[in-house]
Order: sequence, then C-alpha cells, then structure tokens
Amino acid sequence: MRLRLAIQKSGRLHDDSIKLLKECGIDISNGVNKLKAEASNFPVEVFFLRDDDIPQYVEDGVADIGFVGENVVYEKNKEVEVVEMLGYGKCRLSIAVGRNERYDSVQYLSKRRIATSYPVIVTDFLKKNNIDAEIHEISGSVEIAPGIGLADAICDIVSSGSTLFMNGLKEVETILKSEAVLIRNPLLKEEQLKILNKLLFRIQSVKKAKNNKYVLLNAPNENLEEIIGLLPGMKSPTVLPLAQAGWSSVHSVLNENDFWEIIEKLKEAGAQGILVVPIEKMIV
Ligand code: ATP
Ligand code: ZN
Repeated sequence: MRLRLAIQKSGRLHDDSIKLLKECGIDISNGVNKLKAEASNFPVEVFFLRDDDIPQYVEDGVADIGFVGENVVYEKNKEVEVVEMLGYGKCRLSIAVGRNERYDSVQYLSKRRIATSYPVIVTDFLKKNNIDAEIHEISGSVEIAPGIGLADAICDIVSSGSTLFMNGLKEVETILKSEAVLIRNPLLKEEQLKILNKLLFRIQSVKKAKNNKYVLLNAPNENLEEIIGLLPGMKSPTVLPLAQAGWSSVHSVLNENDFWEIIEKLKEAGAQGILVVPIEKMIV
C-alpha cells in the first residue's frame, strides 16, 4: 500500500514541494519528469499535476493527499481537509486599482467591474462586505485588464507588488493570505492514515528545525546563571566546563522569532564566541 501524493508538475510550488519531501528523507529523484513517481524509501507515490486540479483529484480519491496553495483550496471549494501548513509558497490575494484612483474603502468597488481568476473567493469577499459588483473571470494576465478597459479593478496573487506597479496599479485590499498546505481526502483507510501520520511527523520535525537555531557560546562562570536564564532550550541548556578555568560552554536551541533579541542580551551578559548553527531535524 502506498499513499498517493499530488504536487504541482511545474510552477511556483514545484521545487519547494520536492525540497520538502527531500528534507523528509523521501527520495523521488528518478521520476520528477514523469507523470508519477514512486519514492524509493517511503511508501508514497507522487503524481505531478496542474495545481488547479489537485483539490479535485484529492476529493475524488485519485490522490489521497496533495500539496497546494490555500488560495486554490478555497477557490475550488472541494471536499478536502487542510491538515498542515507547509511554510512555503507564501503570497496574498489582493484587490488592486489604477494608481491614480482615489480609493477610500471597499465601497469603491460598488457597481464596478473586477477582473480575477478567483471568482469564488471574490464573490465571497463582496458578499461579506455587502458590495454589489460585477466579476469578470479571466484565467491569466489579470493585471492588464484595467489598462485595456476590461475592468476597473483586479483581484490577483501578489508577492512583491512589482507586477502591479509595472501595470500602473496599486494594491488596496488584501483579501486572503496564502501558503502551501497539505490537504487530504476525508475518507482515508486505516493503513493510509498510518502513512500520512508518519509523513506529518517528518514534516513537523522539518518545520520546527527551520524555526530554530542551535546556539553554542562561552560563558564566564560568574555570569552563568544569568546567561542560562536567557536561554529557553528544549529542556534546559547543556553546560560543559572549558579547559580554561572560570569558563563554561553553553549549548541551547533558540527560536527564530526571539533570536536577535536574546543574542544581544547574551552578549551584554558576557557571552563570547557565540556560534549559531542551523538544525536539520528537530524531534521533540
Ligand atoms: P499550473 O500550471 O500548475 O496551473 P499556475 O500558473 O496556476 O500553475 P503558479 O504561478 O505556478 O501557478 O503558482 C502556483 C501557486 O504558487 C499559487 O497558486 C500560489 O499559491 C503560490 N504562489 C506563491 N507566490 C506566488 C506568486 N508570487 N505569484 C503567484 N503564485 C504564487
Ligand atoms: Zn494553476
């Protein structure tokens, strides 16, 4: 029995999806150019599909799970469950209007034409805001619609905003923040669930590792207590005596979020020779 996983065939999510599998120790190196590939060292079979089709395949049970953008999951609105955020493919779905337009509130959109490839999400957004507007569904190059007189506003994926800028548009409203997620068919068999849980355990370990750094430093013994107090660690820091009397080596794990703040305090407390090392996997 193998778990069938759908990922994007090519595009913005492809490389990071393959990379995540690799970091989970799953090797599909001999098949990335085919339609499907079997991992050599994990009971998973990978299907390479257009991202738009992934929710449907997972709903139908042709694939058991998939890696796909939340934006696509919400737009397709299929019977699938979001199980895990994957931390890559980050983008936002935003409304943009002509750079010189005066935009004070969503009321601007009332009775206007909005071009988008996301009619379901935009309809939902308009309904929530009690706005009556016209949606023009187009499948690509949405950002040129206002320039050619097809629409007054657009709703599209934005990451840096440079595409909008080049087309004379400005972002005025973010309606969804998105990243790649793992979705599953709601009716998996016991054996498939076991494989899924194994995969989730690995993904979570990889994610935790990415958010943390391993820190080694030298501390003067008279400040050891203060320095240890600054370090959260997984349980408590490791403290080893240095060959030089009066000094200790302290090892710990720091979360990325409070990383710089803690490093600064450690220096103030007399820590020296601070080494920061990436963590490959973190099993807690
Ligand atoms: P496909 O051929 O599979 O249909 P596509 O052209 O629809 O590909 P891509 O542009 O490769 O899709 O984007 C895939 C997903 O990557 C998007 O749905 C979104 O979740 C995510 N993404 C992340 N950053 C961006 C970005 N800057 N622009 C567009 N999508 C992004
Ligand atoms: Zn697509």
